[in-house]
Amino acid sequence: MDYHKIKQICGDTKIVAVSKYVDENAIKALYDKGQIDFGENKVQDLVLKKQALPDNINWHFIGNLQKNKINHLINAKPCMWQSCVSYELAKEVDKRLDYKLDTLFEINVANELSKQGCDKNKAIDEYLKIKQDCKNINLIGVMSIGAMSDDELVVAKSFEDTKDIFDKLIPYGAKWCSMGMSGDFELAIKCGSNMVRLGSILFKGN
Ligand SMILES: *Cc1c(COP(=O)(O)O)cnc(C)c1O
Repeated sequence: MDYHKIKQICGDTKIVAVSKYVDENAIKALYDKGQIDFGENKVQDLVLKKQALPDNINWHFIGNLQKNKINHLINAKPCMWQSCVSYELAKEVDKRLDYKLDTLFEINVANELSKQGCDKNKAIDEYLKIKQDCKNINLIGVMSIGAMSDDELVVAKSFEDTKDIFDKLIPYGAKWCSMGMSGDFELAIKCGSNMVRLGSILFKGN
């Protein structure tokens, strides 16, 4: 779909362009249309693309963070780490950080085995524990992937559950509710998302 059409649909909702499928040229082309926020799910790709592209791009890390990649991620200074999945991982990153890193807490809201993220019933407790104990992890919201289902009601329920958790965390400084991908971003926005992560719809044909 055309970038400007997508921007129109998203309105005030921030778009993170997930560039994991494409090379620097494709990223630069979208950057030239005005897109500033990009997301990668592999630390190495984020590092290489960041080096090759303009300095004012905001890089979001959205992938599974292996322990042996923590230092590389920290050195790359992403604008946001969206995929903090647990207190333990937050601690591991925090003890190596020498600056404050904007971070979202990832919730496995539909409780799917294929997905990373904290159990939704434990999410608020874990979130508050991280806030209390990790001084360089600047927790400012939540991230989730919608339920994998053809039933729109099931997907909507997963977004509503994430939004409920987000709302409860607003008094503790939560600002971002990152949910919605190419296949479900319009529904996610209806359910209260203020940040969508769009890959294939931006980068794979029309
Ligand atoms: C790949 C990915 C996306 C983008 O997915 P599309 O369906 O291509 O839009 C969003 N979020 C995460 C965490 C991803 O890994």
